[in-house]
Amino acid sequence: MIQFYNTLTRKKEPFNPIEKGKVSLYTCGPTVYDEAHIGNFRTFMFEDLLKRVLMLNGLDVFHVMNITDVDDKTIKRAKETAQPLQALTENYTQKFHEDLKWLKMLPADEYPCATHHVSGMIKMIESLIKKEHAYVEDDGSVYFKVNSFSKYGQLSNIKFEDQKVTERIGSDEYSKESAQDFALWKGWKPDDGEVAWDSPWGKGRPGWHIECSSMSMEYLGDHFDIHCGGVDNMFPHHENEIAQSQCHAGSSFVNVWLHSEHLMVEGGKMSKSEGNIYTVSELKAKGFTPEIIRYQLLSGHYRTKINFSLAKKQEGEKIVKRLSEFKSRLESFDLENVTLDENPTIYSEFVKNLSNDLDTPNALAIFFDFMKKMNRQMDKGSIDKEQVASSLYFLDKFDSVFGLIPRTGKVPEEIVKLVRRREQARNIKDWNESDNLRDKIDALGWKVKDTASGSEISKKSA
Ligand code: AMP
Ligand code: ZN
Repeated sequence: MIQFYNTLTRKKEPFNPIEKGKVSLYTCGPTVYDEAHIGNFRTFMFEDLLKRVLMLNGLDVFHVMNITDVDDKTIKRAKETAQPLQALTENYTQKFHEDLKWLKMLPADEYPCATHHVSGMIKMIESLIKKEHAYVEDDGSVYFKVNSFSKYGQLSNIKFEDQKVTERIGSDEYSKESAQDFALWKGWKPDDGEVAWDSPWGKGRPGWHIECSSMSMEYLGDHFDIHCGGVDNMFPHHENEIAQSQCHAGSSFVNVWLHSEHLMVEGGKMSKSEGNIYTVSELKAKGFTPEIIRYQLLSGHYRTKINFSLAKKQEGEKIVKRLSEFKSRLESFDLENVTLDENPTIYSEFVKNLSNDLDTPNALAIFFDFMKKMNRQMDKGSIDKEQVASSLYFLDKFDSVFGLIPRTGKVPEEIVKLVRRREQARNIKDWNESDNLRDKIDALGWKVKDTASGSEISKKSA
């Protein structure tokens, strides 16, 4: 059984996709006005984990992640840096894709950009005006009428009666205390410069919230399974998405809303003045590998605040090294004629924990405990080949979720053959041949160690 904590109901609930075996997933993507930071990647990594866990359970996931390439922030930054909006956003979109790939995240099926979908947004706004959920202002802006939707506040738990629906708000982001009519369409202002589209209400541009409502429904339909983001997206962004989408389609919008907690850095909130806004490029320059970053981001539960620290790099390095050694150790056994499709019984516990609202801390503990036991058995030479095969199978599944083993970890066939020949030489006590083969293996950058369970191969450190 898969269970998720649904922000909408504030309960852990069994997850059943609308269409059997298939999951429709929308995750709010980056606002491409700057390089994404490690906090953004905590949220994207949680979404990647969610997808991998759904896939581990045999589900087919269709994932859409939008690119916010027009909003208040992008327009402001383009102006500050004196470049066209498109030049700015294309540059950071490309960097974002490079970072995602480097961090070993699975790509989404679609990455719609807001600027390519403005006509769909205009249609949706027209429908909201027609249904009297929105109104046009004198400056050509269109606002959503919050008190026309009685369920407003259901996600972020704002009581409708408590709201001060007194003024309109033009900015994309605003605080909880001032829930009010918000902009669906923003009439052109001189600050917008060249950024404008024609609409029935004159020149202007879409508001941020309508972008995600319109693109998610265009790709996934009026009603889909899961929508995610970081906690800061819950209000006003996701609350406003629900209002717009439900009023437009007249049906339920999303079944499950998942939100990840924020990442702290060096014990505090990330801020420019603290100088602790780390980007992937900066962490790379400091010697972090994708696996070390993945370990720091995935070892805490997604609904708890976790702290990212440069000082934890060594701890991550150790874990990654231990996992790689475990893999090489298992791979050095000759498994000819042994089937690889058996899992150890503990594997179902591992899957159960991940499927229980993505409990990564417990799933990691289960795997590390298993690894310790298997290593002990290998030390004593008491492991049998079936156990080696099932450990390799488990390790493979483990890494399909966590991605903590560097891709170079696989022992090349050529080395495996040399190690086998060396074992045969040792069996007939041909020590000369055995030494020669060790030298060859060494020259190819690998180390061979003789243990009670047989030869162990590992890559020599650079
Ligand atoms: P943005 O590029 O600002 O639209 O943010 C992209 C994603 O990163 C959103 O889902 C945010 O909720 C998330 N996010 C922003 N800051 C943090 C943080 N410090 N920790 C975790 N997620 C964050
Ligand atoms: Zn969004």
